[in-house]
Amino acid sequence: MRKHAPASIRAELQPLLEMTERVGSDPLLTQASTGNSSAKLDGILWIKASGKWMTDALRDDILTPLDLTEIQECLRRGVDPPERHPTASLETAMHATLPHRVVLHVHCVNSIAWAVRRDAPMQLQRRLEGLSWQWIPYTESGLPLCRGIERALSALPDANVFVLGNHGLVIAEETAKGVEDLLSEVKRRLSIAPRKAHPADYAALIEISQDSPWDLPDDDGLHALGTDPVSQELLRGGLLYPCQAIFSDSATLELFRPIPCPDPADCWQHQYAGRPFLIVDGRGVLVNRSMAPAELATTSCPIVSSSSAVAGQVIAQWSRCGGSSSAVAARRRSTPRPWAGSRAHRCPPARSGHSRAPPNS
Ligand SMILES: [Zn+2]
Repeated sequence: MRKHAPASIRAELQPLLEMTERVGSDPLLTQASTGNSSAKLDGILWIKASGKWMTDALRDDILTPLDLTEIQECLRRGVDPPERHPTASLETAMHATLPHRVVLHVHCVNSIAWAVRRDAPMQLQRRLEGLSWQWIPYTESGLPLCRGIERALSALPDANVFVLGNHGLVIAEETAKGVEDLLSEVKRRLSIAPRKAHPADYAALIEISQDSPWDLPDDDGLHALGTDPVSQELLRGGLLYPCQAIFSDSATLELFRPIPCPDPADCWQHQYAGRPFLIVDGRGVLVNRSMAPAELATTSCPIVSSSSAVAGQVIAQWSRCGGSSSAVAARRRSTPRPWAGSRAHRCPPARSGHSRAPPNS
């Protein structure tokens, strides 16, 4: 929020900022600079600035004020607002087109766990019954997603919950409290207990990381990428959603393939120099000490590890299917739907000044 905004405006935005800070502090909802929130006040759209972290809402100036009429004129002309307002969230168009006063977009891991499944609409229908919700098939951020929201509103004008295929969740209400309450309800309905992975081989990881640029991650859950065959099988199938492309380059998929446990006596380190993390087969994960805070935040809980969290959740559904022929059919339906976007998706932005920064949203 601009410091020079009148006290009355700052007071009106305070509930939005407090809600944004709480949501942004939950790594199961937002990671690094992903996610965004907004409020419409007296013709001004106050929206999270691109590259800002929601968790900083109460200590940083994270909101950008935009003239709502001008933004809506952009949409009518087919101009994506960030083209004119580079500091604005990439999802400004979506926030502007929703008629609600308060809008929240999160990369909720439990929602994504459903949203990557081929049978997501059917599964969500059962779980979100009674809510005014809509399924938005995967589309790129910005104007394309805005148009998807518009189509959904045409089908159900009072929709205020939008599940974005291979992407996340949008909640819209008249107040920040209304948004947070509705988010809690959706989270409760879509909650899945992650499957437990084999524990990491800490002794081996410590041994091979000695005198190297590699370190053990703070988040134990990340080791599942190296110890859980099911997660590895899913990773081999490709990226599940755009945030997994934050390390996007020609080696992206290679990054997610486990490497054989190196012999500390070998000169193995130069072979993987430049990688942000190493998945060591059967042992766990090592992270490069040079990783930027945004990368670490994104890696530590669920963006990269979501491969395991999502995998665990998807497979948790599979495992309930049993072994009958109908179970085989159900299993086929629940196969993850690989992310259909292109690497050109505006995920790895330059705004943070770091080539592997997570998506600005
Ligand atoms: Zn997003």
